[in-house]
Amino acid sequence: MDATPLILVSNDDGIHSEGIRALAQGLRDLGQVVVVAPDRERSAVSHSLTLHRPLRVEEIAPGEYAVNGTPTDCVNLAVNGILPRRPALVVSGINKGANLGDDVTYSGTVSAAMEGTLLGIASIAVSAVGRAGFRFEQAALFARRLATWVLERGLPPDTLLNVNVPPVLDGERCRGFALTRMGRRRYGDAIVEKTDPRGKKYYWIGGDELEPIEEEGTDFHAVGQGLISVTPIHLDLTNYKSFDALRALQLPWP
Ligand code: MN
Repeated sequence: MDATPLILVSNDDGIHSEGIRALAQGLRDLGQVVVVAPDRERSAVSHSLTLHRPLRVEEIAPGEYAVNGTPTDCVNLAVNGILPRRPALVVSGINKGANLGDDVTYSGTVSAAMEGTLLGIASIAVSAVGRAGFRFEQAALFARRLATWVLERGLPPDTLLNVNVPPVLDGERCRGFALTRMGRRRYGDAIVEKTDPRGKKYYWIGGDELEPIEEEGTDFHAVGQGLISVTPIHLDLTNYKSFDALRALQLPWP
């Protein structure tokens, strides 16, 4: 038996992203770190799995594997094929940009952690909040402390931790972290419509910064307060609270 925990690191920004370097570096002496990540940016691919073409794996450095697939492909291939043994932990990130509220459903970063969770492995997703000028030191340090805790204590079944780290000024550190729930965004007019040189219309989704609904206890609220947000996410999407209202569901069937 090898007592050194195996830690799988992945992301959706691609294996060459600075965020994944900082994360792998930060986790380095907690165990044996293996990076299996997409060969290019695959942000917002959600939990998609590649089934209709072959996947290729290239070892670009010792313990670093680039895959021509999605974050979910990477975690699945790593656990079921590439890794020499089962990892004790999956950590995904550090993403360039927040994964808060409803955006979690689009996130490749969070989906890599979902795949780990589905495979029965404790999993964490880490994102750096912001739009540019990302600094990963603080997020990497928090990921390291959280990973240490999770390696010792484990996580409740079917639960991943979605971490969002707000930006700080040079040399400063967030004053704390909060356990939060997923918030909501106010969906606005986020489509940009343009015309191409041949007179045909084209569109960009997500042109605007969408406004969060600032409710206390949410991930948005914590980050707005300058706190690191830690949201436990359950893969059971059932809305248990809706059962009462839906018990009235009566249809002439069969
Ligand atoms: Mn990304």
